[in-house]
Amino acid sequence: MKFFNTLGREKQEFKPLRDGEVTLYACGPTVYALPHIGNFRSFFFADTLHRYLEYKGYKVKFAMNITDIDDKTIRDSKEAGVSLKEFTDKYTKVFFEGLDALNIKRADFYPKATENIPEMIDLVQHLLDKELAYIVNGSVYYSIHKFPDYGKLSGMDLGQLEHGHRVDVDEYEKDAPGDFAVWKAASAEEIERKIFFDTPWGKGRPGWHIECSAMSRKELGQPFDIHTGGVDLIFPHHENEIAQSEGAYGEKFVNYWLHGEHLSVDGRKMSKSKGNYFTLTDLLEKYSYNEIRYLFLSTHYRDKLNYTEPAMKNAASGAAKLELALQNLDFFIANAKEGKEDKEFLATVEKRKTEFNEAMDDDLDTPRALRAIHELVSDIYRYEAKEKKALEKAKESLRTLLHVFGLFEKEGEREALGEALMAKIKEREAARAAKDFEKADSIRDELKKKGVLLDDFPEGTRWRRA
Ligand SMILES: [Zn+2]
Repeated sequence: MKFFNTLGREKQEFKPLRDGEVTLYACGPTVYALPHIGNFRSFFFADTLHRYLEYKGYKVKFAMNITDIDDKTIRDSKEAGVSLKEFTDKYTKVFFEGLDALNIKRADFYPKATENIPEMIDLVQHLLDKELAYIVNGSVYYSIHKFPDYGKLSGMDLGQLEHGHRVDVDEYEKDAPGDFAVWKAASAEEIERKIFFDTPWGKGRPGWHIECSAMSRKELGQPFDIHTGGVDLIFPHHENEIAQSEGAYGEKFVNYWLHGEHLSVDGRKMSKSKGNYFTLTDLLEKYSYNEIRYLFLSTHYRDKLNYTEPAMKNAASGAAKLELALQNLDFFIANAKEGKEDKEFLATVEKRKTEFNEAMDDDLDTPRALRAIHELVSDIYRYEAKEKKALEKAKESLRTLLHVFGLFEKEGEREALGEALMAKIKEREAARAAKDFEKADSIRDELKKKGVLLDDFPEGTRWRRA
């Protein structure tokens, strides 16, 4: 299994620190607004990695942080006129609802920044003791010139940088490295709102970057195997995480850095003012979680994904074909011949599984793996002998692969329609085949009244609940 490691900029064979176990950390949400679909592409990418590692037999220890204190949460909670906690609790809940709606598997830990302050203070103290950091008016800054490896992840060149140039904000310009704040002195306003923690160097709160360094170490140890995030986090966030963790503790921080590309809408960066800004809730009003997952899967995580209405329609149609295949398989199995297990057909099924695995082993090539699943579906349709045991095993394999992609597995969504309704669908198919469209339409209307909608495809008719 190979992953493209941003550290080194090449595909590398994956070797975990411990046999059979993987420690995984993904940068989580800053809980200050409704997450947009670009955020969810990033969480979805971590989910795909999580699920595939488990499918490969690894025991995965997975942590994702919740940033519930930073420049943005403090600013926007004030604007909303509520306490920081009330504000961030609301958006933390929204975040988890989004994960569930998209069928994203939960991580093992979701540490919150405000609940891990002692670990952060300890980390800052280590940096001060090693003179990698210095105090100015109660804030603590990392002296990036003292960390010779600074820039190794992003390729940032310190060249002309002035010594002592300091950056106070959490998210600073991409081309402007500087000594960054690992700890920020409390402002008068923050003291008034009681947003501060006591430290040996005064009242204040953590900088954004220190949160991930401290919490990943606490949950997963140091070093750990894989760290993921969006490409926009490579610099400064991840570069700074490395400087903090490796500087403070003198050991490697992370072995593999995996970064997911951006999502744009109609070829442009999402922005509220351009009116092309979508939250997950916006999308779920029109599309199912399967269709959204399918869209994400059809583009490699290291490629930019351009969200357009036609692309979404294509994804919906791809997902519908797979759902229809599951439905048809049940029908084939119900009508299959009992007999000796068909080894030849099962060898074909195995071949498709191997193709799926090879695609995923090659830096999680989900578009190629998705094609292997469609090939398997075509094999099933082409399979004429229709022997029962082989079909049952083919279904099991198809289910297993769909599970890696988190598709069609929510409870209740594939509940059986009941024989009477299924018989109606078959009756309508027969009518269509005989070009009796009047009868076909009347059956369609009859089913619609019972809350069952039909979509016609060359392979047959798919039903779904209204
Ligand atoms: Zn982070």
